[in-house]
Amino acid sequence: MLALRKTAAAFGLEFAEVPEAPPPGPGDVVVEVDAVGICGSDVHAYEWTGGYEFMTPNLPLTMGHEFAGRVWRTGTGSGWQNQARVAVIPFVACGHCPSCRADEARNCTQRQGIGLTRDGGFARQVRIPARCCVAVPDNVDMELAALAEPLGVGAEAVLTGEVRLGDTVLVLGPGTIGQAIALMARLAGAARVIVAGRADAPRFDVLRALGFTEIVDVADGPLRDQVMALTGGRPVDVVLEATGVPASLNDGLSVLRKGGIIVAAGIHADALTLPLTDFVRQRHQLRATHGAARRTWDRVMAQLSRDPEAFRPMITHRLPLSRGLEGFELARQRAASKVILTP
Ligand SMILES: [Zn+2]
Ligand SMILES: [Zn+2]
Repeated sequence: MLALRKTAAAFGLEFAEVPEAPPPGPGDVVVEVDAVGICGSDVHAYEWTGGYEFMTPNLPLTMGHEFAGRVWRTGTGSGWQNQARVAVIPFVACGHCPSCRADEARNCTQRQGIGLTRDGGFARQVRIPARCCVAVPDNVDMELAALAEPLGVGAEAVLTGEVRLGDTVLVLGPGTIGQAIALMARLAGAARVIVAGRADAPRFDVLRALGFTEIVDVADGPLRDQVMALTGGRPVDVVLEATGVPASLNDGLSVLRKGGIIVAAGIHADALTLPLTDFVRQRHQLRATHGAARRTWDRVMAQLSRDPEAFRPMITHRLPLSRGLEGFELARQRAASKVILTP
């Protein structure tokens, strides 16, 4: 079968013919992939610009961690039926480290990343542990189910930021994770969701299609001035960052109310310079979020099922897997927002 693989610690990805997934062992399933998204982190790994060195010992491998499909073969005790429609939590806990033994699989110190340190979804089939599968509601189609992973990241960021009914929330970054955060903040009851980005017309268009009207382009002037103009000079309650640019956290802090929470969700290659005097006097709470708990996946599936079409505008391009490199270039040049590949 055709697979899109990272073969070397250098720029690029390669297509390769690889054997079909081996029969599932006990507790495993083989999933036939119907839709797989290209993530911002996939693009970073494609460009190989730093931050993904942890992949090197496991190369070559098939990438792809935002996918959904049908259970094709089941190992003994998998608990799934053939043809079950599933989305995939792209992390595999080791099962025996102290965190796993304490029933905190999310804190596993030796976990593998599907599509990052073991084979993922840029292929027709992938073998994974059955416990990574999450049932997809009947009214949610496969391309929307492939959004569950980034939506889970967004939902987890909103939970980490403790967004409350009536809050004014600022989201930094207009890409898929920023969009997911904005959608989940709105569902959490935020009264106003302001989204900031830099000269990013294609993704601003997506945000408008998702119903967000308060969009700040920092290419037009300082973030603080523009946000304060929108709020009538009132600082925001929560800032949620999805840019990967450390200085954007400083911008976010400049509009955050006293005692407010700022959540970093981006993957940052550079260090943050934090003026601590202001930070302390303002009692600002800086938190980090990464991935999503299983319970958060369940919440995402419930929201997808409640109103599937509300999420569809996030997908801007659909391509067959065989044109995957084109998809990566579209994403890399920021001509596309979310590209979905169909193996
Ligand atoms: Zn991702
Ligand atoms: Zn573990």
